[in-house]
Amino acid sequence: MSDLHVTLPDGSVQSVPAGTRPLDVARSISPRLAEDAIVAKVNGTLWDLTRPLEGDATVEILTTGSPEALEVYRHSTAHLLAAAVLELFPETKLGIGPPIDTGFYYDFQRETPFTPEDLEKIEKRMWEIQARDLPYERLYRTKEEGLQLYADQPMKIELIKERAGDVFSEYTLGPHFIDFCRGPHVPSTQKIKAFKLLSIAGAYWKGDERNQQLQRIYGTAFFNKKDLEEYLNKLEEAKKRDHRKLGQELDLFSIQDLAGPGLIFFHPKGGIVRKLIEDWMRDQYLKRGYSLVYTPHVMRAHLWQTSGHLQTYGENMFAGMELDDAEYRLKPMNCPGHILIYRDRLRSYRELPVRLGELGTVYRYERSGTMHGLLRVRGFTQDDAHIFCTPEQIEDEIVNCLEFAMDVLKAFGFEQYDAELSTWDGGKSEKYLGTPEQWALAENALKRAVERLGIQAPVIPDEAAFYGPKIDVKLLDALGRKWQLSTVQFDFNLPKRFELEYVGEDGKKHQPVMVHRALYGSIERFFGTLIEHYAGAFPVWLAPVQAVVMPITDRQLEYAKKVHTRLEEAGFRAQLDDRKEKVNFKIREAQLQKVPYMLVVGDREAESGSVAVRHRKHGDMGAKPLEEFLAELRGVVDLKVTND
Ligand SMILES: [Zn+2]
Ligand SMILES: [Zn+2]
Repeated sequence: MSDLHVTLPDGSVQSVPAGTRPLDVARSISPRLAEDAIVAKVNGTLWDLTRPLEGDATVEILTTGSPEALEVYRHSTAHLLAAAVLELFPETKLGIGPPIDTGFYYDFQRETPFTPEDLEKIEKRMWEIQARDLPYERLYRTKEEGLQLYADQPMKIELIKERAGDVFSEYTLGPHFIDFCRGPHVPSTQKIKAFKLLSIAGAYWKGDERNQQLQRIYGTAFFNKKDLEEYLNKLEEAKKRDHRKLGQELDLFSIQDLAGPGLIFFHPKGGIVRKLIEDWMRDQYLKRGYSLVYTPHVMRAHLWQTSGHLQTYGENMFAGMELDDAEYRLKPMNCPGHILIYRDRLRSYRELPVRLGELGTVYRYERSGTMHGLLRVRGFTQDDAHIFCTPEQIEDEIVNCLEFAMDVLKAFGFEQYDAELSTWDGGKSEKYLGTPEQWALAENALKRAVERLGIQAPVIPDEAAFYGPKIDVKLLDALGRKWQLSTVQFDFNLPKRFELEYVGEDGKKHQPVMVHRALYGSIERFFGTLIEHYAGAFPVWLAPVQAVVMPITDRQLEYAKKVHTRLEEAGFRAQLDDRKEKVNFKIREAQLQKVPYMLVVGDREAESGSVAVRHRKHGDMGAKPLEEFLAELRGVVDLKVTND
């Protein structure tokens, strides 16, 4: 048989016999590489290490450094899971088992629900199979053979009918498990060194709620035990920080069954934090040349027809309300309201840019079952502003928006972010509105603005909205998780639909450029992000209660009241804990409520006019004259310190 030519990443070419596998290529380079190899890339396509090459090829060996290798590894672990389930519960029907960002899952259909004890059993069996070092064997079947082989696996049959060519590949793992799968996988089960099954959830076959319900087992897998441990610790920490749990423990907000899902009730403590978040934004609006406006929550359906929302966004809107004169709709967006204000009179170029800002509450229909705490809701408030300007002004406006967004991050204590610039497809398709000139103007303005500010924002082609390009900023929280934050979005659609104009220097009428921008995004979601980022221990300037005064006995009650009054007079949010409880008990409670300062007063403090200061993080900070403490607190609050 003739030799094949293998080109390696360094450009060198090897001559190898037919039937050579990437694993053999790896061995010829170094035994160490063969040991570390997870999967190969052959002519740019992921390829089993043990699958023979089919012709001359460029071959790359992927090891544990590669994200693609991790996906293959996790997908292989999903097979291991399915094999274990079939050994233990042979009646189970298999759905699909892909890798995901955080690991993998496999969907199963079975009469009896899996229990947490089942998960333990399954995981144990996975380790047993792992120890057998079974190969992931790639086999080929004709479609006909496949339909017979999988006769007792109806979902696989469905997939084979839909997707398989005349001949298709499948993978076996031991005598009981075969999977209709394109692959690739790791060569054998002993490659899999660290995994953990995490949870069971409901899912629909093909994600369609009209289909049968399945049980989805989630798991995760890493190349080594250390990475797995780290991830599991992070999950534990994330659970502790879950804003739904903390929201209840700290009495910040609730969702009320009687009122409906996805609708948020801010309790007094959450209300204070919200007020501070909103005040910060309103102050900034005014400082930065925005005007503050308010627009109605319900408006005629005719407006939503004019804006096009009814036609393109209708299924996300609440149903109509018939009034005597017309049908009305709850607003899903604030833009049309701001547009009506802009075009209430003829504008001159001298007035531009017009920046209209609102903390505008919108209502959007989310499918039941998709709501999630403060993050996915049916009613929320956007810090929404719309900028109307001339083409010449656009770059500076974008720079201002992005600087503003960076200041939001800084003010609330986030150090890291990710930005993305989404552009159109250059006009290849019909799906985008607007002229090439408009797109060029807007995209160049976005690109120059990120350059001017030194923001890293990779361009994602063909990801823009149909009506204009945008920049998205996601923040990274204390656990390194990404949260959607700011959007700056051009719009070539609405100015046209509403026939927006301004009178230019030339005395003629022109169409203004329009930009939507929201920096917190949604105040509800931003609040949820803050709760999780700070694990409920808000910076002092945001803390619902900044200090609790605790008399040791009733003897100091009078003095404690004075301290409390003095704190409130000075403008701080303080509480007096005058219950007849031991001071340690009071401290423990304040600590659980994440109150920044506990001020203990005994006889000595009462006599000397001082307070014994205890900080939620740093513990005992010693006694201080009350006025000195007040001055220090003033400084921390005024500077809006976020890492105290
Ligand atoms: Zn597979
Ligand atoms: Zn808008």
